[in-house]
Amino acid sequence: MRLILLGPPGAGKGTQATRLVQKYGIVQLSTGDMLRAAVAAGTPIGLKAKAVMESGGLVSDEIVIGIIKDRVAEPDAAKGFILDGFPRTVAQAEALEKLLSDQNLKLDAVIELQVDQEALVGRIVNRAEEAKAAGQPVRKDDDPEVFKTRLAAYNRDTAAVTPFYAARGQLSVIDGMKPITEVAASLDAILGS
Ligand code: AMP
Repeated sequence: MRLILLGPPGAGKGTQATRLVQKYGIVQLSTGDMLRAAVAAGTPIGLKAKAVMESGGLVSDEIVIGIIKDRVAEPDAAKGFILDGFPRTVAQAEALEKLLSDQNLKLDAVIELQVDQEALVGRIVNRAEEAKAAGQPVRKDDDPEVFKTRLAAYNRDTAAVTPFYAARGQLSVIDGMKPITEVAASLDAILGS
């Protein structure tokens, strides 16, 4: 199974992806996680991405398309994958389309978690507080001001990805403001399980 979860930062893509990974035995490909790992390891990509990520902006298409291309080619992605945080621009969506069609692969579903953006800032404040309480590091970009920049980047560059898939008849939309279990049930209904 190959699927894409779309939706603004804080919509719950990561939470739902983690559950789907367990359920279907596929891998979660989060460009955000991969970039954070590159930053932590101090790789050339990490060095380039660090400041952009900390400010809440988008890393260049060239970099993220490159890392996704390499990651999709790894053996553990052969069974299927969930893309979380990618594609974030129409150029990335086009590159993915080409990458998959070159390998005769198809997406099974593209699912948008639709959320109330006003409520997202509150969610992000909670995420930061929960991480702190659990003794985990708080993501620098979960600072409310940086988060607003991330939302602005979403509205400027990523919102156009949804119509890209709608135009291809591939898009399903679910209400991401519902409790986690209800969102999960809606996802399962779309995935036919
Ligand atoms: P995320 O964990 O998906 O919220 O991503 C954290 C940050 O990584 C984003 O705010 C961007 O700076 C960067 N990033 C992650 N995925 C992408 C992408 N597909 N395109 C551009 N930048 C990305």
